[in-house]
Amino acid sequence: MGECMQEYKLFIGGEWADSSTGETFKDTAPATLETIGIFQKAGAQDVGRAVDAAEDAFPAWSSTPAPQRGKIIFRAARILEERKEELSRKLTIEMGKVLPEARGDVQEAIDITYYAAGEGRRLFGETTPSELPDKACMTVRRPIGVVALITPWNFPVAIPAWKLMPALIAGNTVVFKPSSDTPMLAAELVKILTEAGVPAGVVNMVTGSGEVAGKAIVNNMKVRAMSFTGSLDTGKWILGEASKSMKRVSLELGGKNPIIVMDDANIDLAVDGVIWGGFGTSGQRCTAASRVIVHEKVIDTFREKLLARAGKLRLGNGLLESTDVGPIINNTQLRKIAGYCDIGKNEGATLLLGGKQAKMNGYFFEPTIFTDVTMDMRIAREEIFGPVVSLINASDLGDAIEKANSVEYGLSSSIYTESMRSAFKAIEKVDAGLTYVNASTIGSEVHLPFGGVKATGNGTREAGSTALEEFTELKTVYFDYSGRLQRAQIDIEG
Ligand code: NAP
Repeated sequence: MGECMQEYKLFIGGEWADSSTGETFKDTAPATLETIGIFQKAGAQDVGRAVDAAEDAFPAWSSTPAPQRGKIIFRAARILEERKEELSRKLTIEMGKVLPEARGDVQEAIDITYYAAGEGRRLFGETTPSELPDKACMTVRRPIGVVALITPWNFPVAIPAWKLMPALIAGNTVVFKPSSDTPMLAAELVKILTEAGVPAGVVNMVTGSGEVAGKAIVNNMKVRAMSFTGSLDTGKWILGEASKSMKRVSLELGGKNPIIVMDDANIDLAVDGVIWGGFGTSGQRCTAASRVIVHEKVIDTFREKLLARAGKLRLGNGLLESTDVGPIINNTQLRKIAGYCDIGKNEGATLLLGGKQAKMNGYFFEPTIFTDVTMDMRIAREEIFGPVVSLINASDLGDAIEKANSVEYGLSSSIYTESMRSAFKAIEKVDAGLTYVNASTIGSEVHLPFGGVKATGNGTREAGSTALEEFTELKTVYFDYSGRLQRAQIDIEG
């Protein structure tokens, strides 16, 4: 892994530069604890320079016809595709997820990049008839200006790409701050955009702590919109703070996603879904299935089958084919997961499997299952963000849906059932931005909207054409070609 070791710089105005603070930080591989890169700790002054560079680049980039911007984004998609395997391996080293999942992360970035490139020839507005003769009405989309993107570590390429590509195709210029746990993949993405022909100043990257660099971005008056994915606490702070400068804010926050297993479900299929949703990415997905709400008639069979499967999961370095579950991102997260397991035991839940750090070099936590979990327990309500699944009893569909809805988050959800009625009831009644039927809580596709309700966000949706809502302003145009004064609501009554 030594070949990855490199000192990375900030990227401002098309130049790779040292930070003004003179400070750096280490990027650590969670499976081996090796240092894989050295990164700059940006200070407020660096953020100011990055925002100014983005502001300077805005007139030219926003005036470039969108189909031309699309050609550049399209080239970025091609480069990502060509480098998929190399990027995926780096991603596994930096973030820890197993290689097939890392390939999925990179593929998601490729998909959104092609999708956004195509938007260069759409960026649709609307036309509609006027209430007056000889008058045309339409909407057109305009870029917002300098937008800031702050991202977490669990999808080191996909989440930045989900934000960067729609922001760029819409004609905005960008200041991007990746997570301090995964700055290497962020730097690779920025290099690819530059290689594809994104002009200097259009994309700027500052690395460094959320406390310093992140806060300086939020407080910068020239940043007109922010797209943030991360924890609820940080999201709340950003929303409050950004209101002082009337920034538009898009938040994608935590989840506590339920899988409902009904008594008519295909139990083996549901077990597959819980293994994938609960332990994939070591449970470190905003859409991870952390609560499994099972009809009491089938919970004994379900528990037995789940335990048999989960007990066979192999922990290890994600680069190895033999590994099913990779490491936890860092020691803080590892301690947090261990803390929740203690809380669960103290609350009276029964620990069926795991519940502790694995005795291995690296940040590994054993796949964990609690049963006899009730909705008043913290492990049933709070986001753990680790490989911990709680089994909860339900007496019928109504009880299961009530339990599914009794948390503050509302991102993803799933129901396993053979009944159309139960499936449609769940689609109608479960408070979540996503509902899967007979599939796990994870697996979004880039051409559909992604986001959650309640404390998971503030109503925006990433991906699909809805991503453009985050990054464009609508202008309404009235074009009067009558050659005389026409008064809406007055000249034509009723
Ligand atoms: P986090 O601690 O909130 O950090 C996210 C990003 O915000 C990082 O770049 C972080 O920088 C930065 N940051 C921290 N404090 C900040 C501040 N005061 N001002 C500005 N930026 C600040 O979250 P995380 O631990 O990286 O990610 C895990 C969370 O993300 C989970 O809650 C998960 O559910 C959520 N998530 C949600 C979605 C979704 O789409 N809904 C998707 C993925 C993840 P540093 O890295 O330097 O601290």
